[in-house]
Amino acid sequence: MDFELTPEQIDIQRAAKEFAEKEIKPICDEYYKKERKYPFDTIKKAAKEGYIAAFIPEEYGGAGVGIFADNLIKEEVTKVDPGFSFALITHIGVEAILQHGTDEQKERYLPAVARGEEIWSYALTEPQGGSDVGGIMTSAREEGDYYVLNGTKTFITNAPIADHVVVIARTSPERYKGLSQIIVDAKDKGVAVNRLDILPGYTLNGTGEIGFNDVTVPKENLLGELNKGFYHAMDWLDWSRTWVGSWCLGIAEGAFNLAYNYANQRELFGEKIFNFQSLSYQLASLAAKIEAVKLLMYKASMMADRGIPNPKIRSMGKMLAAELAEEVASFAFTIYGGYAATTDYPVYRFWHAAKICQITEGTPQIHRELIGKRLSTF
Ligand SMILES: Cc1cc2nc3c(=O)[nH]c(=O)nc-3n(C[C@H](O)[C@H](O)[C@H](O)COP(=O)(O)OP(=O)(O)OC[C@H]3O[C@@H](n4cnc5c(N)ncnc54)[C@H](O)[C@@H]3O)c2cc1C
Repeated sequence: MDFELTPEQIDIQRAAKEFAEKEIKPICDEYYKKERKYPFDTIKKAAKEGYIAAFIPEEYGGAGVGIFADNLIKEEVTKVDPGFSFALITHIGVEAILQHGTDEQKERYLPAVARGEEIWSYALTEPQGGSDVGGIMTSAREEGDYYVLNGTKTFITNAPIADHVVVIARTSPERYKGLSQIIVDAKDKGVAVNRLDILPGYTLNGTGEIGFNDVTVPKENLLGELNKGFYHAMDWLDWSRTWVGSWCLGIAEGAFNLAYNYANQRELFGEKIFNFQSLSYQLASLAAKIEAVKLLMYKASMMADRGIPNPKIRSMGKMLAAELAEEVASFAFTIYGGYAATTDYPVYRFWHAAKICQITEGTPQIHRELIGKRLSTF
């Protein structure tokens, strides 16, 4: 078993870290206070360096580094700022094109995403319950050469700025065998987006509700097979949970860095607060947990990269990384004392992101359900 990254992966990791330190860190604090909108300029710069959807194969204009190295980029950028890092995830749903798209769909859609010119969303969640994918009610009625979509999706990342949305919609009454995956142009007649007011530390992407009112979509926009949408969505989650898990890991590491640095800088009772054992022991425990979760997440990403299906490992990785992110961010918040409660210090952004990462791509309860159903002896 080899625990070393390859020289190429180390280069990618180092370059992503340098990019985040140079292009994001200096503007971050002010950006959240004054701009609080999608950072298109940073996206353009990131796309130029090949950091947007770096997994897209070179034949479609991407960097072609694979899932594992793409997740390394996400982890490094997240350490600097979770919100900017998530804003670089303009490719939500594009994974499904690589998984189940036709050659024509790949050629048509992937190059613009790789260039940072298009933003995508993946719309599963509906107001009546996100955890129950089989209960999706948004309908796609067949009419000649078209599907006609009606329904509402909510909490959709990138919705206010998306060019395309991959929608999971009902094409037949059967609970699991009646859903399909369909690409919708966000500018189509009948698509209405309502931006939701999300926690300020996680606000750059824009999260929204999307209404579909008699939206007419050509049948060629079916992504994968008719009525296999539930299973295609599970495939998509199997991949997306690796990048969300990497994001969670980056939140844990970034929050740890804040706590560690602050503890070594703040002096009380005549010495650095790091010297108080009750505090350094807690940091020691968190550092050990980060190392353990990192191994699990790297295993999950590596398996996804090699095309090895293993939803149990992906669920374990995402669940533990999210719970650790919350634990570390909460600790960092405490270490900063009263300053944590101000927006002058970045720690609140890590804390907000750590709360949100519990919910996206499956709550901790849902992951325990998924893992529980797949348990066996060691
Ligand atoms: C910032 C943000 C961005 C998001 N982005 C997207 C996106 O891009 N696309 C998308 O489709 N969705 C997105 N979501 C939605 C997210 O995936 C859902 O919020 C999540 O799946 C939970 O669904 P829900 O909010 O309807 O909660 P519910 O499903 O109503 O769950 C409520 C509670 O019940 C618990 N619960 C549910 N079922 C069980 C069970 N069987 N056993 C035990 N407990 C259970 C849950 O864990 C939760 O605590 C986003 C959410 C947020 C907050």
